[in-house]
Amino acid sequence: MTLKMFSTAVLDILFPPRCAFCGQLMDRSGDGVCEACRPALPFIEEDKILRQVGDFPCAVAFYYEGPVRDGIRALKFGKKSWRTRVFGRYVAQAAGQLAGQFDAVTYVPVSFRRSCERGFDQAQLLAKAAAREMGMKAERVARKVRNNPAQSSLDDPARRRENVKGVYAVPHPERAAGRRFLLIDDVATTGSTLSACAAALMEAGAASVVCASLAGGHPEKETED
Ligand SMILES: [Zn+2]
Repeated sequence: MTLKMFSTAVLDILFPPRCAFCGQLMDRSGDGVCEACRPALPFIEEDKILRQVGDFPCAVAFYYEGPVRDGIRALKFGKKSWRTRVFGRYVAQAAGQLAGQFDAVTYVPVSFRRSCERGFDQAQLLAKAAAREMGMKAERVARKVRNNPAQSSLDDPARRRENVKGVYAVPHPERAAGRRFLLIDDVATTGSTLSACAAALMEAGAASVVCASLAGGHPEKETED
């Protein structure tokens, strides 16, 4: 038994591994996905991973349904870095389709108030994990400067676009100037949140922005953002 195998075995006893999607205890950590969830993961077909959000290309790993929807919802109830570690791997995998188009990683921030209430920012955790997979670091660049009603409370795409107007800003434009960003969020349905944040990066002088999210809707049935 190698030292790494031994320490993994010890960690599995101290912190029993759980499936990142359904939260069930697992015998061993493996890749963080249980045998029930694995065949049910709603991967987006390879040729549909890339979509367009506003003026920006976006790589989306999963459809927002089944175990993926459950896993993302569960993130709202606590800082679960064991979940985001696994989720970040899938985001990095999808972002592989945008390889060569970015050299910095950032994320769509939640408001200061929301982050205080929850104690963490889930897009930040996801971006950190995805960046680590790619040998990079996630940076804080945009800020949410206005609180707006949750996108999920609005059905109409035009109202969603209106709802995120002027919500994001870049307080230190020198952090954005001339850089090519990969912008990460957890869910992108109509993509209006991602495209509003991407537009703020561009306004601050970014050279380009491409996006990635863990989950997105089917183009024909868009329900949550
Ligand atoms: Zn599971």
